[in-house]
Amino acid sequence: VTFEQLGLSSEILRAVADEGYTAPTPVQERVIPLILAGRDIMASAQTGTGKTAGFTLPLLYRLQMYASASTSPARHPIRALIIAPTRELAIQISNSVKRYGKYLAVRSAVVFGGVSIEPQVAEMQAGIEILVATPGRLLDLIERKVANFSKTEVLILDEADRMLDMGFLPDIKKVMALLPSQRQSLMFSATFSDEIKKLANGLLQHPVQVEV
Ligand code: AMP
Repeated sequence: VTFEQLGLSSEILRAVADEGYTAPTPVQERVIPLILAGRDIMASAQTGTGKTAGFTLPLLYRLQMYASASTSPARHPIRALIIAPTRELAIQISNSVKRYGKYLAVRSAVVFGGVSIEPQVAEMQAGIEILVATPGRLLDLIERKVANFSKTEVLILDEADRMLDMGFLPDIKKVMALLPSQRQSLMFSATFSDEIKKLANGLLQHPVQVEV
């Protein structure tokens, strides 16, 4: 299977070629068609398998194909929310979003705690379509009413097991309550404990389980 055969756009394929990727990894081969088909997924994939591109490439395609009707960037609602447990992972995902989306007019931002919130507030107010966030700072921004999730189409939880280990479950539940129930949700986790399955049950609709 080639990236071309997976049905991505020429802009996204060009960015993938720039990265030097010649073929999709096994996890990408499995999840990209499912995500493009609009399915919810619960995937067990470790870091190093190419899972970040596995969810970022089809996400970018979806946002590109169903462009937002609003023309003013400041009125752009957040269309996709990616939650990650740590600042390092959030930055890594955000860099992937920017690299794979470099030929698209998609605006993204990354927010995490431990740094001043003001520049992040300004970035959000300027208007973004993809937000990558750690749970605590995400709630701070929600409390300041700068994050509007009323139009969020896609939710991605990366390293969900680590988020539970770090005690982020209450934060995640608070955020979930603000998202439209009509959305696509993707959950990635290295392990599938009963606790993770419970979270998945509350979050995903008829998920496809993918194990790589
Ligand atoms: P991840 O598992 O998402 O952290 O990705 C691990 C590494 O694999 C990253 O450095 C990516 O740039 C790289 N990568 C992702 N997809 C591919 C691919 N199809 N071919 C070669 N390298 C890739």
